[in-house]
Amino acid sequence: RSAVDIAQAALDRLQRLEPQLHSFLTITPDRALAQAQAVDDRLAAGEEIGLLAGIPIGIKDNLCTQGIPTTCGSQILAQFVPPYESTVTTKLAAAGSVMVGKTNLDEFAMGSSTENSGFQRSHNPWDLEAVPGGSSGGSAAAVAADQCVVALGSDTGGSIRQPAAFCGVVGMKPTYGLVSRYGLVAYASSLDQIGPFGRTVEDAAILLGAIAGHDPKDSTSLSVKIPDYTQFLLPDLKGIKVGVITETFGEGLDESVATAVQGAIEQLKALGAEIQEISCPRFRYGLPTYYIIAPSEASANLARYDGVKYGFRQPDAENILSMYTQTRSQGFGAEVKRRIMLGTYALSAGYYDAYYLKAQKVRTLIKQDFDTAFESVDVLVCPTAPTTAFKAGSKTEDPISMYLSDLMTIPVNLAGLPGLSLPCGFDDQRLPIGIQLVGNVLREDQVFRVAYAYE
Ligand code: GLN
Repeated sequence: RSAVDIAQAALDRLQRLEPQLHSFLTITPDRALAQAQAVDDRLAAGEEIGLLAGIPIGIKDNLCTQGIPTTCGSQILAQFVPPYESTVTTKLAAAGSVMVGKTNLDEFAMGSSTENSGFQRSHNPWDLEAVPGGSSGGSAAAVAADQCVVALGSDTGGSIRQPAAFCGVVGMKPTYGLVSRYGLVAYASSLDQIGPFGRTVEDAAILLGAIAGHDPKDSTSLSVKIPDYTQFLLPDLKGIKVGVITETFGEGLDESVATAVQGAIEQLKALGAEIQEISCPRFRYGLPTYYIIAPSEASANLARYDGVKYGFRQPDAENILSMYTQTRSQGFGAEVKRRIMLGTYALSAGYYDAYYLKAQKVRTLIKQDFDTAFESVDVLVCPTAPTTAFKAGSKTEDPISMYLSDLMTIPVNLAGLPGLSLPCGFDDQRLPIGIQLVGNVLREDQVFRVAYAYE
């Protein structure tokens, strides 16, 4: 079959499932069919095509796509059509992949359930009453339901790994700086990373290989050689040391999650890994540290939405100050406003030392716990999230309980490390459970190796 046939079949399935899932904000048949046609043309001309050529992909709607709306899940960007393309989608287009649409997310990637989207709620394909996780819930649901083969998400505190766990797919946040953030709408710039979703570890490894690499347009982008990650996909774990993070098996962890993750650890042992208990005593300060640093950075990044430069503007305001105020009051949702208020408060004169500076110091201590751990092990494991997918609406009234779902993923962002979530079982409601594998800086190879051998 031709790439155009495959793209058409993918679009048909996507559209057929969309009324139940609402995983996409924009479906892009024109771009998909044009990209597929380009692949067929290359084949007809006898050219070599790569592994991603003709592969239908979903792109989180906080990645800029030229000429295609990029809303970031926010009403304030409802009409925004970027005049430029992100580096990752440029690379994927060059690799011949076929973008079928832009996936739903929590507004500005702030949330853990995709319920904060300014447009629609996405549904978990395993239970339509449950959330798909977030903020990349649309991408995770779309891959789980085969609306596309792979997808991109972004992860600031867990937004790839937690929805991957909730939807039973593989999701990875790479080392900070491995993937260019050019064209990613900024949430918290020192934490944001773009990463892959796939049904298998191999798919995620192939997709990461295609998007990683130095980019002069992102000043935090690392200058490192990108290996072919698939060469690390080996069947056994001989010589690999795996550390189990003790502190993650405490209070608040669902029994079913603990059991499934322990079972997975037993299997890693059977595959030849040496298992050790590892203590990360400062891990538990990750959540409060994150909720100072991320809103602080967000409050600065979101200052640009003033009704002048992008998207929505309140047209009836009497003067410019009231135009700013009304634009932001009407354009932003409740969670975004909460974060802006938290961030501006933490950064304000007189409080900076007590909150922001303190949080940065704790961030360093958390990183030190990881550094110590990686002196004795290659990869750390823990649950991805303390629970399985929860019912929609069950946490919307209580932001703290929502924030808790990122307890185990956030420290990994604070330390800038690669983390991957891999399906490892189901609870008694048949909802998927994820195990998180964390590697040292730029040791994606070891994370993929452990993930692949287990899978
Ligand atoms: N749920 C976390 C938050 O709301 C993480 C989001 C993310 O990784 N983008 O900030």
